[in-house]
Amino acid sequence: TVASGVTFYYLARKDRTPGIQLPHDPTKKTLVILGSGWGATSLLNSLDTADYNVIVISPKNYFLFTPLLPSVAVGTLNPRSIIQPTRYVTRHKSRQVAVIEASATEVDPERKTVTFADTSEIQGLVSTTTVPYDYLVFAVGAEVQTFNIPGVRENACFMKELEDAEKMQRRFLDCLESAAFPGQSQAEINRLLHMVVVGGGPTGIELSGELHDFLEEDLKSWFPELANSVHITLVEALPSVLPSFSKQLIDYTESTFKAAKIDILTKTMVKEVREKSVILQKPDKSIVEVPCGLVVWAAGNKLRQVTRDLMDKLPEHQTNKRGITVDDCLRMVGTNGSIFAIGDCSATSYAPTAQVASQEGSYLARILGQIAKKDELELRLQTLQNQPETEESKTEIDSVAKRLVKLEKLRPFRYSHQGSLAYIGSDRAIADLPFFNGNLATGGVATYLFWRSAYISTLFSLRNRTLVATDWLKVKLFGRDVSR
Ligand code: NAD
Repeated sequence: TVASGVTFYYLARKDRTPGIQLPHDPTKKTLVILGSGWGATSLLNSLDTADYNVIVISPKNYFLFTPLLPSVAVGTLNPRSIIQPTRYVTRHKSRQVAVIEASATEVDPERKTVTFADTSEIQGLVSTTTVPYDYLVFAVGAEVQTFNIPGVRENACFMKELEDAEKMQRRFLDCLESAAFPGQSQAEINRLLHMVVVGGGPTGIELSGELHDFLEEDLKSWFPELANSVHITLVEALPSVLPSFSKQLIDYTESTFKAAKIDILTKTMVKEVREKSVILQKPDKSIVEVPCGLVVWAAGNKLRQVTRDLMDKLPEHQTNKRGITVDDCLRMVGTNGSIFAIGDCSATSYAPTAQVASQEGSYLARILGQIAKKDELELRLQTLQNQPETEESKTEIDSVAKRLVKLEKLRPFRYSHQGSLAYIGSDRAIADLPFFNGNLATGGVATYLFWRSAYISTLFSLRNRTLVATDWLKVKLFGRDVSR
């Protein structure tokens, strides 16, 4: 125990104390990274920043560990436990990295510039700046898709950003407190305690599971009089939930939800979200109004405006509605290799998941390292060729040219699927794992423990691992916090 305590202290100190960093170097090329999500953070983690002058631009100055967002929404985890300041990564890099909290508003692939606007709430006025880049990594992610369904934006909670989870937690507790207010009719109590989750993808499933856990483990002791009136409904437009998981795991999830009394309505579309109800279109196309206290919208994502604008500037090359078309090395088609696109804003043959984005990020770190070496050698070659020829320079030209040929070829990106995991509530998780050329589909309590350890080890820093583990322990000991 003492030894592990000392090791922990040493590692934590090392994390806190950065070394001396190289300053900005005008001879190096400028690499601008847009975003601070899975793709951008994984790139920053692996990138050797000595090769470039790196500028990171993102409206959030932190990385958010999205898989655990539903746990924040029900108060299992503290919001701060699943975010990591971007400067936490950059302060350990070999060369200083400029981190700018701003929203990219325009990319000009012709002039190679990025325009961005300040997102500061204090200043109140928006200031806009433009910077040039040599290479741009476009990793801006996606935004919530509402399909322009009336009332979604106004009346539903999303589950994409940290503030969405915090907002949902406040609303959810508000429903509980209002339902506990003396003198309410049973119909009003039932309405307030009816929680509707829209979307049977992994986000909707995990959120429903977490909601159920909260109700089961904490509500009964905090609000015993309300416990029997709570009701969760999951609405999915397709014939089944979790289409990306195997049939066996879909069945397992459905039976777990049934036992947990979570209603799954498949082939049912949400047509409108009102202040106190949702309008559903049932499988027989009939329309019903269902009273509810809270609607969580987890119905998928769409491209951001800045991404669509960039694609519109290259109409001959960028025609895929799903996102930016990239080549095998993640270079945006039509930009001569000056823009790379990774994560949810690009259209590849892989699902838009955190796992794909993070593998793309670390792949790109290697590729950018190779490109930096190539650019350096090209410059050297030019200098040598512009000098009067000598025996010595001829030999060097030959050797540089040979090395350049080797560096010219970039290894294409290959995604290696490590499996899909989802928490489904009641201390159970499901996992679809590639296993000895086959697939291992497992679900249950052991998978849940595996889910926990997999998530803990995927968290990027020792600090976040410690915070999440401590939060889990706190909930086991004291239950969730129900203060608003
Ligand atoms: P999703 O796109 O996977 O699922 C959204 C679902 O909402 C769809 O099944 C769609 O049919 C349904 N829907 C859309 N409009 C509807 C309407 N009006 N009424 C009823 N249903 C409607 O979205 P997600 O769950 O947020 O996932 C996004 C991506 O992130 C996916 O690629 C997913 O695999 C990944 N992800 C993975 C995990 C995990 O592996 N644990 C967790 C979260 C997200």
